[in-house]
Amino acid sequence: MRLTVAQMHEVIAHCRAERPNEACGILAGRGGRVVRVYATRNADLSPQSFLINSEDQFRVMTETERDDLEFTAIYHSHPTSDALPSQRDVQLTTYPEALHLIVSLRREPVVGRAYRIVEGHVTEVPLIVEKEVSDVR
Ligand SMILES: [Zn+2]
Repeated sequence: MRLTVAQMHEVIAHCRAERPNEACGILAGRGGRVVRVYATRNADLSPQSFLINSEDQFRVMTETERDDLEFTAIYHSHPTSDALPSQRDVQLTTYPEALHLIVSLRREPVVGRAYRIVEGHVTEVPLIVEKEVSDVR
């Protein structure tokens, strides 16, 4: 999956702002390229888990359907652990078509890694952070 430096900074800023709890959000895009970052509320309000607030999810789905965007990835933070899927993350079945971007705030610099998680199988996928180019969209 690909996103821009500015989008990655937006994700990291949201993750930092939600500490000590996990932050979560949706990266909408086309063909593996992120077009829009949606910071959503974590309904769990927990340092160890996340659940995208249902109102936020509905709002994002409405907008992305209108604008013909896919859920490229779901992102969430690990405030104190590494950027590896937790047992709970592996068991998630909510967005099988989306990738999962995990941002670890455990140490500086923060680390982001992306995974495909399907039916309990985890595969890391390349996370490409690109410099802004005016014609990417
Ligand atoms: Zn997690």
